[in-house]
Amino acid sequence: MTDCLFCKIKDRTVPAEIVFENDELMAFKDIHPKARVHLLLIPKFHLDSLDDILPAHSELLAKLMLAIPEIAKQQQLQGYRTIINTGAQGGQIIFHLHFHILGGGPLPGFH
Ligand code: AMP
Ligand code: ZN
Repeated sequence: MTDCLFCKIKDRTVPAEIVFENDELMAFKDIHPKARVHLLLIPKFHLDSLDDILPAHSELLAKLMLAIPEIAKQQQLQGYRTIINTGAQGGQIIFHLHFHILGGGPLPGFH
């Protein structure tokens, strides 16, 4: 999508600190980190949010989930939190599916 910030990061027309990339996925540093390490993992394929996913996206979703511990290991995170905000009321601001990965130190309780 031409007007999507994360598509522009994926296309490298908007700069970001990219920490992981393969053919289908990219992870970069969140510009307003909420933890010592705060990364955003995206599929290169544009999907607005979890509300857009279909069974046809199962393989892509599995790749995203599998990439999370791989990135965490690469970043030497000893424990991390993964958050997906969905929809305006879910706190989603950027409508390109993304997984927040937070870590780098003890995180506040979330129960
Ligand atoms: P969400 O509220 O789940 O849509 O999260 C969007 C995230 O994108 C927020 O944590 C923002 O800090 C982050 N963000 C916004 N603009 C950029 C950018 N240009 N580069 C990296 N992260 C960004
Ligand atoms: Zn996009």
